[in-house]
Amino acid sequence: MREIILIKYGEMALKGANRSTFEDVLLRNIRYRLKSIGKFSYAKAQSTIYITPECESDEEAAELVDSAMKRLKKVFGIAALSRARECEKDFADIAAQAVPYLKETLTAAKTFKVEAKRSDKAFPMKSPQICAELGGVLMQAYPHLRVDVTEPEVTVTAEVRDTHAYIHAAKERGAGGLPVGTAGNALLLLSGGIDSPVAAYMMAKRGLRITACHFASPPYTSERARLKVEQLCEKLTPWCGSLVFYCVPFTEIQETLQRECPEEYFTILMRRLMMEIAQQIAGQNDCGAIVTGESLGQVASQTLSAIACTDAVAHMPVLRPLIGMDKIEIVEIARKIDTFDISIQPYEDCCTVFTPRHPKLRPVPAAVAEIQSEVDFAPMIERAVAETTKKIFAQRISEAAE
Ligand code: ATP
Ligand code: MG
Repeated sequence: MREIILIKYGEMALKGANRSTFEDVLLRNIRYRLKSIGKFSYAKAQSTIYITPECESDEEAAELVDSAMKRLKKVFGIAALSRARECEKDFADIAAQAVPYLKETLTAAKTFKVEAKRSDKAFPMKSPQICAELGGVLMQAYPHLRVDVTEPEVTVTAEVRDTHAYIHAAKERGAGGLPVGTAGNALLLLSGGIDSPVAAYMMAKRGLRITACHFASPPYTSERARLKVEQLCEKLTPWCGSLVFYCVPFTEIQETLQRECPEEYFTILMRRLMMEIAQQIAGQNDCGAIVTGESLGQVASQTLSAIACTDAVAHMPVLRPLIGMDKIEIVEIARKIDTFDISIQPYEDCCTVFTPRHPKLRPVPAAVAEIQSEVDFAPMIERAVAETTKKIFAQRISEAAE
């Protein structure tokens, strides 16, 4: 009998046929995340996934559980998770194991209550009886404790399931959301800034598998700037599961824009061309949407009319999860996912290298399209796509970033 992990998923999202897809994908994602830690066995029943470390000693099991808990907190689709002690389906064993297992938690608390869940209706004790008797055993062992059924500091749960019973006391909140992969694939426009990594996190949370695409304009943008974006990919990998990263050479297009187009339209044209290239890469990668880190009104290229000009060339949904957020709210998430310190490193982005002095604040799509049509960008777009490089960020690489 040893320590295991219980995973609970939010049932709200689980309707009809979705349910088994959700469970299968979640289990696959969990296995993938834990594969390199050690051996675990997996079982699921009653909206719970049971993860048992496969090892020789209890100490080793506790260590495996420690490392696994850390990783599982970044797996979307998990509503709550807890470490639990596995017991025989026998009240004497439940009581005998609960006392030492909960020592630390109960010593630190003043009030507690016991909850019981019993899916095995053949178990000789009913839930209220389990609660009362286990509560009595724990109060005898830890006489400083008081029962508080409305606002206890600690809730001890005893679950009697098919093959075993489980005791746990500290339920932790999971990352929430839907398992990555259940909502399809999307291509993220990833700059080195604060916003786009947060956008990746938010859309991965809604079940999208993210592929990232970065535009670089060497020698105006340095190798160091590209490495910064790769560091961001490493930080995103635990949340996204794995991440394919494309780097698009954008120099020729930017130089042409600067040479041939009116300066005030420079940014908006650049964004349209980025969108056109991104959609080609999206098509090659089975992505059904583009994701950006835009937030309404944040800069000149994110006004409603600028967005209308970019969207005029889009033939797939453009998801902008940060559109209604303030910078402070975005920064909060960036800190939580640990991308903030990388994002603020002062390396140039292709957007900042060629910033017009007075960008057009209210560009009109038809006028922008007319200006764009004066230059034949098609062969340049084709070259940029052909020369795009690919790198895969997977579990192994992301471990260093955790
Ligand atoms: P971020 O903090 O994400 O860089 P930002 O506030 O600096 O955003 P912009 O530079 O206008 O805003 O970029 C808006 C969005 O366009 C970014 O969130 C990102 O999705 C995309 N983008 C900008 N620059 C690049 C780039 N070099 N490569 C890929 N996508 C980019
Ligand atoms: Mg930026």
